[in-house]
Amino acid sequence: MSEVIVGIDLGTTNSEIAVLKDNKVTVIEDERRKILPSFVGMSEKDEILVGEPAKNQYVLYPERTVKSIKRKMGEEAKVKMAEQSYTPQEISAMILKHLKGIAEAYLGEPVQKAVITVPAYFSDAQRQATREAGEIAGLEVVRMINEPTAAALSYEAEQKAHKRILVYDLGGGTFDVSIVGIEDDVVEVLASHGNNQLGGDDFDQKIVDHIVKHLQEKSEIDLQQSRKAMARINRVAEIAKQKLSDEPYVMIEEEYLEEQEGTPIHLSLELDRHDYEEMIMDYIDETLEAVHIAFKGANLVTADIDEILLVGGSTRTPLVSRRLKEEFHLQPRTEVDPDLCVAAGAAIQAAMIGGHDVSKSTVLVDVTPYTYGTSAVGELNGEFYPYMYVPIIHKNSSLPLTKTEVFYTMVDNQEKVEVRIFQGEEQDALNNIQIGEFLVEGLSEATQGNPILIKLELDLDGILHVSAIEKITNLQKSITIDNAISRFEKGEMETAKERIKEIFGEDRKIIDIDQNTETHHAVVQARALVEKAERMLDNASSEDREDMVNVIELINDTIAKEDFTALKEPIEQLSDILYYLES
Ligand code: AMP
Repeated sequence: MSEVIVGIDLGTTNSEIAVLKDNKVTVIEDERRKILPSFVGMSEKDEILVGEPAKNQYVLYPERTVKSIKRKMGEEAKVKMAEQSYTPQEISAMILKHLKGIAEAYLGEPVQKAVITVPAYFSDAQRQATREAGEIAGLEVVRMINEPTAAALSYEAEQKAHKRILVYDLGGGTFDVSIVGIEDDVVEVLASHGNNQLGGDDFDQKIVDHIVKHLQEKSEIDLQQSRKAMARINRVAEIAKQKLSDEPYVMIEEEYLEEQEGTPIHLSLELDRHDYEEMIMDYIDETLEAVHIAFKGANLVTADIDEILLVGGSTRTPLVSRRLKEEFHLQPRTEVDPDLCVAAGAAIQAAMIGGHDVSKSTVLVDVTPYTYGTSAVGELNGEFYPYMYVPIIHKNSSLPLTKTEVFYTMVDNQEKVEVRIFQGEEQDALNNIQIGEFLVEGLSEATQGNPILIKLELDLDGILHVSAIEKITNLQKSITIDNAISRFEKGEMETAKERIKEIFGEDRKIIDIDQNTETHHAVVQARALVEKAERMLDNASSEDREDMVNVIELINDTIAKEDFTALKEPIEQLSDILYYLES
């Protein structure tokens, strides 16, 4: 019988524990969270706190709380927490013991063995200290593996590949880049480089500086002396940063930061992604320099790389993928959650040691197989074009997810915008599949450049919610596209393309695909409308209901007869009724 061995990512900012169960890797949740903040604290009642509660008390009692202990592993110095001093191993052991408890509660049996990951650059002393932390926590560390190796394992569980993989790991406090080689079942780090003083915390600091400067200018108050106010600013800055990964603007708000001669100081400041990206550009450039140093170390050139994998929470910053793609002409892979892939890889290694068979299906994640976006006026092949495709949700992103992008009106006093939603990858939106469209009317009288936010939310059931929001008024219009994913079976488009290519040869491909796409689009749109109408039947007046039922029947008949050209009219009729009912 195989034994339980867990995989642990003991991180500077966050830690996770994972295990192979029913041939699937599971990152174990604790109170519905898979990520445990690497914080340890002593409560006022002298109880040990680990994770979220410790992180929460850090704002109030920094002297009773320890964070980022990983940075001190291997050092002799002790850290102070409340009245006592502890070795780094002891603090890490508290985190490990907590994780062990989470796994035991989940599995319903004792856990005594673990694979723990460490950074590729960790020295012997640091590795030894990690092993000791495990022992203190009651865990035999059966193997320590390098974090980039674990990340690569989470993507290539079977390891039958021959690949060179760039693992770009940008966490809270550290940046590491490694080049990992996979040759059959040998996975090794060929070169690595990094900066253990660069990460998401520095990005937070840029926003903190920006906020402090803003408050200084606005209220002539220097909050840097107030530890509590600074801790709160730090927290809102981090939240703002994370929101900017999915949204083009963020409102940073915090009440009663401080009092100034009896008047409370509130914070209310908008930050846009573009300005934020300017703030962190130098840091990202620094990481790219490190990547090139790693290449030199491995005697490789950029063309030798087959894949780029993103690891660490900070890689969710869109600028990271964008710059990597510009530099290496490869779209970085993000299917496995960048916060969880190291723990998942550790669990795969643990399972192998424990005698399990691991296969490609071991790490299965919910990802969108398609890219979704909208169209906008832009330049296509150097020419003005009204339907340039702007992807918003990229294929292979893990689900569920919400992304918002900003667009601008073209003319002064523009009253309406037409929003079209497409699925596909073509630069010309009209060559993609249109899956929804709607009109936003009644925009305020504004000069051109009035920002309109387009928000796409894709859930695990493949339902896509689309909203368009006029930023200055919050005027909003939304639609729901059911089964945005499952309606187009994975590979269907590719198979269709191949088939057409075979029959007609390369040259005629575009024309024929367009016809195919149009029919497909009409049927998809009709079905979505029918589903939506059926949901609205209950609340419609009897007159409207009768109209709707008639049109629905007509649509169903037309589809059954495959008389696709006749679909246009009933689709328009039904859209009109629904539009009328919704407005
Ligand atoms: P890690 O050390 O890998 O756990 O990464 C933690 C860092 O990732 C922290 O600085 C987080 O603020 C950052 N982070 C988490 N989620 C996001 C996000 N959505 N966008 C940008 N940074 C993020």
